[in-house]
Amino acid sequence: MAGAVGHLREFFVGGRWEPAAGDLTRRIVDPATEEVVAEVSIGEAADAAAAVQAAKAAFPAWSALTGAQRADHLERFAEVWEAHAEEIGAAISREMGMPVGMSGFFNGFAPAQMLRYYAQLARTRVEEEDRVPAYFRGSARIRPTAAGVVAAIAPWNYAATLLASKFAPALAAGCTIVIKPAEENGVSARIIGRILDEADLPPGVVNVVPGGPDFAAALVANPDVARVAFTGSTGVGRTIARTVGERLATVNLELGGKSAAVVLDDADLDVVARDLPPLAFQNSGQTCFAQTRVVATPGVYDAVVRLLVDHAQGQRLGSPFDTATTMGPLGTGAQRERVRRAIAEAVDRGAVVEAGGRDAAVPERGFYVAPTVLTGVRSRDDVAQQEIFGPVVVVIAAEDDDDAVRIANDSPYGLAGSVWTADTARGLALARRIEAGTVGVNGYQPDAAAPWGGVKDSGQGRENGPEALESYLVPRTYYLFDHTPDAPG
Ligand code: NAD
Repeated sequence: MAGAVGHLREFFVGGRWEPAAGDLTRRIVDPATEEVVAEVSIGEAADAAAAVQAAKAAFPAWSALTGAQRADHLERFAEVWEAHAEEIGAAISREMGMPVGMSGFFNGFAPAQMLRYYAQLARTRVEEEDRVPAYFRGSARIRPTAAGVVAAIAPWNYAATLLASKFAPALAAGCTIVIKPAEENGVSARIIGRILDEADLPPGVVNVVPGGPDFAAALVANPDVARVAFTGSTGVGRTIARTVGERLATVNLELGGKSAAVVLDDADLDVVARDLPPLAFQNSGQTCFAQTRVVATPGVYDAVVRLLVDHAQGQRLGSPFDTATTMGPLGTGAQRERVRRAIAEAVDRGAVVEAGGRDAAVPERGFYVAPTVLTGVRSRDDVAQQEIFGPVVVVIAAEDDDDAVRIANDSPYGLAGSVWTADTARGLALARRIEAGTVGVNGYQPDAAAPWGGVKDSGQGRENGPEALESYLVPRTYYLFDHTPDAPG
């Protein structure tokens, strides 16, 4: 794979392949085989300075284009991305273990769709507006303008989707950007560079460097970065917010979660059986919105445990490249150990393993953990409070609707949730009482067209929808005075 990708010692910066400034490298390990598949250069502080400089140099011309001109570029970018969809999907599967069909959707198809969606918004957006002033005669002309250079930092779990949800709206708004994929994505980062090269965006408009900690720190602290768009853990998000806040730039934080799925007595259990367990276990549970706290009222509790167990036991763990595989390995060996430890600690504190477990059979090689269902868990137990980021779901009994809401909200996080009931109005009423940025009724699906993000420890700001594009703009106001004697106002 490495040979086919090329440029493993270089970064795509300023429209060219530039050699890494330092000697830092990382071995990319295939989590399904534990074999090293590539060794790649990782960006350091000097690379961050060069990438920001390139984005800064490109900003005046890019931000001066009309929305329609930027839309033309984004559509071309989408076409080229789509032509490489299979390649990038497979590379990310190799880097982090997501089954290849799923990766083709999230890392191949979805970014191209995201680019097209924002191209359309850029083409149709009203670029300025005149308002009748309240205090003087004339008009107030409001023109939102691009914020400047954006730094986009993403994790490895949905690598390309989470980069696209930053670069697509930022580019549509007229910002230029430095994107920092996770170090784990050192190979796919080069494929993104090749896509950019082929898409022929003006040099410096998008720069891509899989950077290490020095790179990330330098990027976030760089005074020429106007806005940081971050997806990742709550701890790192807080660190970034402090740095960015200190220099009065702005930050969007898409952080961790521990989302609740509330199943009420009248729920259609066929729908629940089909659609809820994948929300808990998708991508081996390495999904920020994973609904890993299932809260069930008394009439359905046993059935809900059963259907989660059936789903867990029906999973086929194996190579992400085998089309029969439904669940791949965890992304790294360290992640597998964290998940196994969390299961063991929960059991020590009285949790009952209904399926899976720390030592359940899994393929011999690779960072696998069996999908695990736990009962006998209280809402305040660590396993119900902390994000595990693995295929572990807890089922908690609620006395009634109010108790279910109480349990759902008994979390430091507020990213996502769902309510399952035959009565949509009852479901929506209950959904509105859940402290989370997005809640589904009888299903759950984030969408490019609707704002996405969390409350509480799950972050601030929103991606997706027109709201994301607006967030990369700064409104500027021009007061236009009318001194003619009969002017209105
Ligand atoms: P992480 O915070 O360790 O890393 C995320 C990114 O930040 C990586 O690119 C990493 O290199 C970079 N980074 C690490 N330290 C940094 C620093 N000090 N300054 C700047 N950048 C730094 O997260 P992870 O463990 O790789 O990813 C999983 C987490 O991401 C989970 O908590 C998950 O819930 C969250 N996540 C959230 C969303 C969302 O939309 N809310 C989506 C996906 C994942």
